[in-house]
Amino acid sequence: MPQAYDQNNVFAKILRGEIPCKKVHETQHSLAFHDINPLAPIHVLVIPKGAYVDFDDFSAKASAEEKADYIAAIGETARIVGADADGYRLLSNCGKNANQEVPHLHVHIFGGRQLGRMLKKDGE
Ligand code: AMP
Repeated sequence: MPQAYDQNNVFAKILRGEIPCKKVHETQHSLAFHDINPLAPIHVLVIPKGAYVDFDDFSAKASAEEKADYIAAIGETARIVGADADGYRLLSNCGKNANQEVPHLHVHIFGGRQLGRMLKKDGE
């Protein structure tokens, strides 16, 4: 069950221009910028401009136009930063079990090095 959208989350402030970001790409419905605390040589975030808490919220409520724009923006952003050359990982934390920190949908694009296994197995 998604929580109510918090208009004061950090990505909402970026979208309103209240705090800066290192922009990579922008479309009608999406914005991509560098993560402030990169975990890989390439670490970019892609967010929809609409007020969606997480992937669950977006997939249920966004228009077809917003969804198409967002998917295209993710792929285009990966090409702009050169992540397509050797491959990349997309990750979107959704809610409590995924430790989502910022409650505005974002897809991480990681690349620029070998990223290892996806997850540890239970008990490791
Ligand atoms: P998540 O755990 O998936 O919610 O990840 C949130 C991400 O947002 C983290 O990787 C943070 O480093 C990143 N982040 C937080 N504040 C900012 C900011 N002002 N600009 C860019 N990235 C940010």
